[in-house]
Amino acid sequence: MELNLEEALEAPVALSHRLEVPVGRLERPELLSLEPVEFSGTLQKAEPGFVLSGELAVSGQAVCSRCLAPVPFASRGDVSWVFAPAHRRPTAEETELTATDLEVVWYEDFIVPFDPLVEEMLQLEIPLKPLCRPECKGLCPTCGADRNVAPCDCREEGDERLAKLKSLLS
Ligand SMILES: [Zn+2]
Ligand SMILES: [Zn+2]
Repeated sequence: MELNLEEALEAPVALSHRLEVPVGRLERPELLSLEPVEFSGTLQKAEPGFVLSGELAVSGQAVCSRCLAPVPFASRGDVSWVFAPAHRRPTAEETELTATDLEVVWYEDFIVPFDPLVEEMLQLEIPLKPLCRPECKGLCPTCGADRNVAPCDCREEGDERLAKLKSLLS
């Protein structure tokens, strides 16, 4: 979808957009699947430029960062973009003086591709280290067994060190 900023010149415009993003495009190996992403919000005139703010709903499946089991996730977050005309873009020197965290989309033309902006925002909404449950025991680094299912016989390195310490002390 493309945004037509010009539409908001007179009055705020309500926008909604549903976007299918192929999982591979996000370069997040822990991501298994992604439901269509939903955005709804309002585009309005600001000085200078425009502001688009609304809500982004993301859901799908990722792998547990400890045991690799599939974990469903769903997040809904407030997002906003500031659009400012490219001719107002500060030079590198000016940017240093007015350091700001605000992400600005500089436009040359009132037509702005929206999908790339949503994809960028998705990176923040997808959980970084999903867990199937907070107490997930993960896979054994030695034999690869799922320690949630059954404890394996591998000895943990920590135990060995502790054993040595004990033998030294005795
Ligand atoms: Zn897990
Ligand atoms: Zn093991």
